[in-house]
Amino acid sequence: MKRILFASLCALSSFGSLACDFSSVKFEHDFAAARLDQCKQINDSTYQLTLIPENTPINDSPWYAFKVVADKPTDIKVIMKVVDGHHRYPPKISLDGQNWQLQKYRLRKNKLSFHLKVSEKPTWISAQEILTNEQYYQWGKYLAQQQYISQEVLGNSTQDRPIYKIETKGEGKDWLVILGRQHPPEITGALAIFPFTETLLSDSKLASKFRKKFNILVIPNLNPDGVQLGNWRHNANGIDLNRSWKSFDQVESKHVDDYLSSLVGKNQKMRMAVDFHSTKKDIFYTMPSDYGMEQPYLVETWLNSLDKQYPDFNVIQQPGNNPGKGVFKQYFTDKYNAHAITYEMGDNTDRRFINTLAVSAANTLMTTLLNSDPITGK
Ligand SMILES: [Zn+2]
Repeated sequence: MKRILFASLCALSSFGSLACDFSSVKFEHDFAAARLDQCKQINDSTYQLTLIPENTPINDSPWYAFKVVADKPTDIKVIMKVVDGHHRYPPKISLDGQNWQLQKYRLRKNKLSFHLKVSEKPTWISAQEILTNEQYYQWGKYLAQQQYISQEVLGNSTQDRPIYKIETKGEGKDWLVILGRQHPPEITGALAIFPFTETLLSDSKLASKFRKKFNILVIPNLNPDGVQLGNWRHNANGIDLNRSWKSFDQVESKHVDDYLSSLVGKNQKMRMAVDFHSTKKDIFYTMPSDYGMEQPYLVETWLNSLDKQYPDFNVIQQPGNNPGKGVFKQYFTDKYNAHAITYEMGDNTDRRFINTLAVSAANTLMTTLLNSDPITGK
């Protein structure tokens, strides 16, 4: 199967006019995943934009995405302030909303500023690459052209947006679960889930053999409301979904729990889960190998083997156990006695490397699971 480039997937729709509209310069935020909370003109060429979280308290991940359009070619200065937080993402610039480059900027006393040459043609500025609900849907639709892959609605979000699941069913009972986008701005984790999944679903010899034995469930975009609204972290109820796996008071996590329970009710077995996120650095949060999972060294074997393939890159494994927090990884292990990891890519990790590593991680995981011995647990 051919790898899909993100650029070919981008389809942004508009939702009426919602602009910070000044006489000759406009800041538009009327598209999917756009976010700009307040705008103010400081002088002829300087504009101050304010980023405000959906609610507080909240993790410090101010998201922004907007387009700038001017009557005529003009040089402007943009200053961005954050309410209730600190800047996390260096600005990216694009002339088509698809291909992005790092924008030169200055950060002083939590004010981020940069100069732009703007014109009638829109200039896009965003915290990270923009990755919309529509792009996920189109990706799943593309994958599901293969007879052995399906894409279906798992359930609807708080604001009634569909949450999709992509699935393959083999001959065995074991399931590998892949989850993504609990936290909307964590784009580098999202950039990893595409190549990771495509490797598992590819027509390589290894993947074909793997899928005969293992079933795969991918829920790549669990928080479509947060993605649409350009939220910093939460769903439409202002809740961190990765703290809702104990209470299950949010429909998004409830849909997943219900579905996994229904599979287990049909004599299926949860074997492993990988949940994709982003943070400051590349790190893999695991469950401690002495926690009591079946095959206790499975994840260690997988990640050690991945580490050996990259002499210049350190695959950091950080075991942790937080029973009270409602984190997906903990829930999966506690409920199914199976391994779960949080796969975190650094916010600024090289995008090509994210791709390369995800392909290796998926291949190595398949080899590890196929070779794993239920008796020795390795
Ligand atoms: Zn996260």
